[in-house]
Amino acid sequence: MINRERLAQTFSRLVRIDSVSKEEKAIANVLCELLTAMEADVAQDDAGVKIGGQTGNIIAKFKGTVTVPPMLLNAHMDTVEPGRGVEPILEKGVFSSKGDTILGADDKSALAVILEVLWIIKENNLPHGPLEVVFTVSEEIGLLGAKNLNFDMVSATYGFALDATDPQGVVTRAPSANYLVFTVHGKAAHAGARPENGINAIQIAGKAIADMKLGRIDHETTCNIGIIEGGLAINIVPEHVRVEGEARSHDEDKLNKVTKDMVDAFKKAVADHGAPSSDDNLPFLEFTVEKEFTRTNIPENHRVVTLAKQAAANLNRNMSCKSTGGGADANVFTQHGIDLGVIGTGMMDMHTVKESVKLDDMVATAELLLEIIRLHAQGKAA
Ligand SMILES: [Zn+2]
Repeated sequence: MINRERLAQTFSRLVRIDSVSKEEKAIANVLCELLTAMEADVAQDDAGVKIGGQTGNIIAKFKGTVTVPPMLLNAHMDTVEPGRGVEPILEKGVFSSKGDTILGADDKSALAVILEVLWIIKENNLPHGPLEVVFTVSEEIGLLGAKNLNFDMVSATYGFALDATDPQGVVTRAPSANYLVFTVHGKAAHAGARPENGINAIQIAGKAIADMKLGRIDHETTCNIGIIEGGLAINIVPEHVRVEGEARSHDEDKLNKVTKDMVDAFKKAVADHGAPSSDDNLPFLEFTVEKEFTRTNIPENHRVVTLAKQAAANLNRNMSCKSTGGGADANVFTQHGIDLGVIGTGMMDMHTVKESVKLDDMVATAELLLEIIRLHAQGKAA
């Protein structure tokens, strides 16, 4: 039933539209036009204004032909860099870029699949429940679109995001994450003339980081130091250094523990430097810990899982629940009481110039989503 040719064309059209984070106006215009042509009630919220982007999230509502609770379908409109001037190549059934940009299958494969499924429903007058399509901005730079989504415009309490690799998996577990920023304040001095008057902030931070256990802490916990900035010149003892990192875990207690360990490593490195001199109180540490996103943990008997599994079974396919170490818009929706299972579209090697997606996988995802919508309309697997 899926129109393979049209799906390929839609995908090609969408990836050719530049839409790096905060610059989604052009693609949003196209999507709004297509959704409006399908007689959806299309609106955009003010997330763009809040985050300093070009445009807001799209919320498109399709009235149901049957009365069941609404279901949400989510994908994001933005891409990472290098994402400008993408020229898709379709060779032996696989889409890739020319090699100097990403492809943008993350997440335009999802946009194309959702549009194709909606067209099929419209053309064939297929019965369906109320559908709420939410296309977000700026997912790739900290889930900013979802975090600033006007949730008053959404009424569904469950649904699906299409933003993963495996079309035969539904991601039901994702970690919580903390965002950490450390600033070590040392003291500047001429590195050649009076180094003894200085306190080297970079060295203190270096000791703190060297003392940390980074990377994989256990099967559900990770942490990372990702950015370090400091120093002005090689002949100045550096006065400040700023370090950014993150910690993630599927378990809140473990998240708190690994976060505390990172903070303690900095506290210790500063303390080990020796007591601060009384007049200037240096060195000292400033730090902030922010919850970046909250974990998702959808139980096996949740309708998101039963719908995905039943739909796959009807198509003679497997469907398994998956756990991820990454965060996605779904984490933010969870915080607002909306459980989203995250389904794969076949996208591979995301965020690299080797990114690709098989047309077959996009077709398979569209078939799955269509079957999910059919079951949803029957109130089955609920
Ligand atoms: Zn994505």
